[in-house]
Amino acid sequence: MNADLHCHSTVSDGTLEPEAVAARAHANHVELWALTDHDELGGQQRARDAALALGLPYLTGVEVSVTFAGTTVHIVGLGFDADDAALRDGLAATRGGRRERALEMAEGLAQAGIEGTFEGALHYVGNPELISRTHFARHLVERGICSDTQEVFRRFLVEGRPGYVPHRWATLRNAVTWIREAGGIAVIAHPGRYRFTPNEEYALFTEFKAYGGRGVEVVTGSHTKAEAERYAESALEFDLLASRGSDFHSPDESHTDLGSLPPLPPRLQPVWEALEDRVQRPGR
Ligand code: AMP
Ligand code: MN
Ligand code: MN
Ligand code: MN
Repeated sequence: MNADLHCHSTVSDGTLEPEAVAARAHANHVELWALTDHDELGGQQRARDAALALGLPYLTGVEVSVTFAGTTVHIVGLGFDADDAALRDGLAATRGGRRERALEMAEGLAQAGIEGTFEGALHYVGNPELISRTHFARHLVERGICSDTQEVFRRFLVEGRPGYVPHRWATLRNAVTWIREAGGIAVIAHPGRYRFTPNEEYALFTEFKAYGGRGVEVVTGSHTKAEAERYAESALEFDLLASRGSDFHSPDESHTDLGSLPPLPPRLQPVWEALEDRVQRPGR
């Protein structure tokens, strides 16, 4: 099954409107889709309506920013009730502070000689509550300061660089609880991206399970083949469901297109099998 359960629209830091992401997923032969904007459900109704109009089965989705062991970790939620009040309130609280952080980022960049980046980044923002590092990256590329967004992150937007401002996101416990109590399944996003020690990674998986987390992304646009194999082992070791998603943001930036992923490695239980009754299908 060509499931793509991780991607972004203009409602967070993607460049396509939710309807355009749906159309692209459909054109790329995705058979089950979830839009997972960062910390925000504002695109869910639009994504669902567009998907069902195309005959594309849909799962609700979100990617929650979490601070764990001093690092930002992302938790994807799938198949929850998008009207759940506790989830909506939790996400609103998680979005809070992004504007202040962005002003501090601009201050740091100004001290490094690059003025006016807050206004510049805002120009790329679709949702004013969701100004993110990605929007700064696009602005610096537009100004010719870097040749692509990867270079901006490397030079300016990661720890130790002038535009980096640490931020306190949701707790792991809260993120998992919001998703679970809204009827969804929580999934550890792209575990290969975190720079954890083996002990920290073990703690992440163990605590995640203890709070009721049930899945891990094994095949994602952020993983090499070796990482997919490694986290397939983790899924088996921790008895977690396996997820699959491109993490598509933009036709110009994302190296993995919607639906263009290898299959899950054998022996894993796909997360969508446990979400059968949460899938929204055309004509229902
Ligand atoms: P923020 O939530 O503002 O910290 O921004 C995080 C977003 O930045 C992620 O969701 C990615 O879309 C993007 N990002 C993080 N690291 C990189 C990187 N090294 N290269 C390109 N984009 C990145
Ligand atoms: Mn992003
Ligand atoms: Mn992520
Ligand atoms: Mn993502």
